[in-house]
Amino acid sequence: MMSKIKVAELFYSLQGEGQYLGTPSVFLRVFGCNFKCAGFGMPRGQLSEERLAIDPEKYTEYDKLPLVHTGCDSYASWDPRFKHLSPMMEITEIVDKMQEMLPGGTFGPDKHLILTGGEPLLGWQRSYTELFEEIAKREMNLTHITFETNGTQLLKPEFIDWLDSNPYYPGLDITFSVSSKLPSSGESWEDAIKPEVVQQYYHHSSLTYFKWVVSNQDDYQDVINAIEAYEKVIDVGMMNIPIYLMPAGGTTKVYDNNEKWVAELAMKHGWRYTPRLQVQLWKNAWGT
Ligand code: SF4
Repeated sequence: MMSKIKVAELFYSLQGEGQYLGTPSVFLRVFGCNFKCAGFGMPRGQLSEERLAIDPEKYTEYDKLPLVHTGCDSYASWDPRFKHLSPMMEITEIVDKMQEMLPGGTFGPDKHLILTGGEPLLGWQRSYTELFEEIAKREMNLTHITFETNGTQLLKPEFIDWLDSNPYYPGLDITFSVSSKLPSSGESWEDAIKPEVVQQYYHHSSLTYFKWVVSNQDDYQDVINAIEAYEKVIDVGMMNIPIYLMPAGGTTKVYDNNEKWVAELAMKHGWRYTPRLQVQLWKNAWGT
C-alpha cells in the first residue's frame, strides 16, 4: 500500500531565500517538528505565547490562520492543536496537485521541488522515496529537490541508499538548506547544533549550505560560535559549505531595519547574504 503524508501546505511559489532565490518551486510543507522556537522575536530568555492565544476551533482553513510576530511563524505546521488543518494525503493525490499547479505540469531545470516544514526529515523519509518514484513514473522531469531542515535529524540508512543511487533520476540535484536554530530560537544549543548530522547531509547531497537568521549582535556572536562548533567536527571543514545570513523580520518594518547591517556583516566575513522575497513580495502570507 502506498504511504500517506500529513500535508500542512502544498503550493507553488518562488523560492524566497538562499541559493535558489527566485526559482519557481512547488513547496510541500509536511506536518511535525521537534522544536517550538518560541524565542523568536522575544527578549533573550523569554518565550512567546502568541500562538497559544489563537483558538484552533475558530479556523477551518490553514491559510486563514493569523500570522504571528513572535515565535515560529509556521506554528500550524507542527502544533498538534492545529493538526486538523493538515490532511493526510495519498502520494498520488499529492502528485496530482503538483501537476495541476506547475506550469506545463512538469518540473524541469527551472522549477524545483522543496520539502519543508515543520521539520521535513522527521518521520517522512520512507514516504519521500515513494513520492519521488511517483513523480518519476509520470515523467515530470524533476531535476532538483531541496530539503529545508533544522539540521538535527540523521538520515535513515534506506533513505541514504536512495539518495546515493538515485534509481529514478540520474543526475538529480539534492540540496540540504540547513537553518540550525541559534539560541534566539529558545531551543538549547545541545539540541540544535548537531555537526555530525550536517556532515552526513554533506556527504549525501549535491549541495549543503547554512542559512542563519540574524537580528542583533547576540545572534551574530552565536553564528560565530556555531561555525566554530561545526568546524571542529565536520570532516570536510566549513570551506565547502556556503554560509548565508538573512535579516530577521516577518514584517517589512522589522525586515527593513535589519537588512543593511546584516548585508554588511556578510560582506565583512565573506559570507553570502540572502534577502527574503516572501516578506518583500507577499508580507509573509501563508502559501508563499
Ligand atoms: S525548527 Fe522551524 S518549523 Fe520547527 S519550530 Fe523552529 S522555526 Fe518552526
